Amino acid sequence: MNTYKYAKIPSKGEKIQIIDGELSVPNEPVIPFIEGDGIGPDIWNAAKRVIDAAVAKTYTGNKEIHWMEVLAGEKAKDITGQWLPEETPQIISDFIVAIKGPLTTPVGGGIRSLNVTLRQVLDLYACVRPVRYIPGVPSPVNHPEKLNIVIFRENTEDVYAGIEWESGSEEANYLIDIIREKFNKSIRTESGIGIKPISPFGTKRLIRKAIQYAIQNNRGSVTIVHKGNIMKFTEGAFKDWGYELALEEFRDQIITEAELWDETRADDGVTPITKPGAFADLRGGQPAGNPGGRIVVKDRIADSMFQQILTRSDEYDILCTPNLNGDYLSDAAAAQVGGLGIAPGGNIGDYIALFEATHGTAPKYAGQDKVNPGSLILSGVMMLEYLGWKDAADLIVHAMGETIQQKTVTYDLERQMEGATKVSTSGFAEAIVANM
Ligand code: NAP
Repeated sequence: MNTYKYAKIPSKGEKIQIIDGELSVPNEPVIPFIEGDGIGPDIWNAAKRVIDAAVAKTYTGNKEIHWMEVLAGEKAKDITGQWLPEETPQIISDFIVAIKGPLTTPVGGGIRSLNVTLRQVLDLYACVRPVRYIPGVPSPVNHPEKLNIVIFRENTEDVYAGIEWESGSEEANYLIDIIREKFNKSIRTESGIGIKPISPFGTKRLIRKAIQYAIQNNRGSVTIVHKGNIMKFTEGAFKDWGYELALEEFRDQIITEAELWDETRADDGVTPITKPGAFADLRGGQPAGNPGGRIVVKDRIADSMFQQILTRSDEYDILCTPNLNGDYLSDAAAAQVGGLGIAPGGNIGDYIALFEATHGTAPKYAGQDKVNPGSLILSGVMMLEYLGWKDAADLIVHAMGETIQQKTVTYDLERQMEGATKVSTSGFAEAIVANM
């Protein structure tokens, strides 16, 4: 029975469930989607075409996704009068896995970003962004292929979480007074005030998810990125709680970098950190491998991390960051592989996962069948991997790589590539399907 006001449950397909703490995915799951605003419908239609074709091709009729549209953004406002109807987060929560196009951030009216609201309401605490080079994509660096990382950015805390008061407001003045009176610290009058909360709970669940991912995907290291040299009790604590969690819950699967130095110094007298590429050597030159099957847990100061991804790209695997630094680092890393426009993302909680294009609605291109659908297609790849449908995911990655190497690309890549053929959004999707 359809219990929702606007969304229609498809006549075929079943719900994904959580059974004994594990995701149980039927062969024909119902998956909610939000089409998105601006270029959303163009890229969603292309992504859907590619995902459906990959599933059909891989599982020859034994698996099929039944899509269910849910409303958010401008379309929701037109139909329901609300930017985010109450039932939308509820449906995503009921069906567990969903995918979305970009959404306009309403201006004024006290409405925060719909994306941020969805993340908060559904407690999607990890923003997961894989950054990997697709051969053929124009990149600003000489060896973009050396970078192959997955960033786990904390999504719910930090100065980014929106707890702030305007300069001159009653609240800001009150806090300035209290801090002076009670703690003898002075803040300039008329300062705006933002609060930066970082908790052991929020930190540990993020690091746990990152290490679990590293184990499941045979990755070599997990790096905790922080600015703890300056912000000791927030960023520094993020690092400390990260190590604590790693040692408490994954002792047999991890080795800390400090422990690794001790071990390797004894063996060969070389301090790995002083030797370029030392970790790659220790892992037999395989960034994806790990010493003795263990994952190295290390930490880096955030500013140094921006250099390290450029200068020692292949020494990093999984990165864990607080909210704000993760925002910057995700875009910097994506730009390094030329993939800012095609970078995928997922916002993931304990089970619920919402995959999304990482760029915005690019309103000037809306409805022109022009833009690159790569970001949403690769977010679909992440979704298929999350469902455990890895063969279909791999087929898309392979076919999209082929298509880009054939230089059949949308305008954004075509303008940076010599001798490329420019195709439309739907044309790019068809070319990918033809390469499957
Ligand atoms: P944007 O929509 O990402 O667009 C900025 C520029 O990026 C475009 O003009 C275009 O560059 C390029 N671009 C974006 N998507 C592309 C694609 N699929 N293919 C090729 N090029 C692409 O950023 P914005 O203009 O700052 O934001 C517009 C709206 O989107 C705002 O309402 C914002 O709040 C919202 N937004 C939503 C999300 C989300 O839903 N996750 C994220 C960010 C922003 P050229 O002009 O050079 O071709």
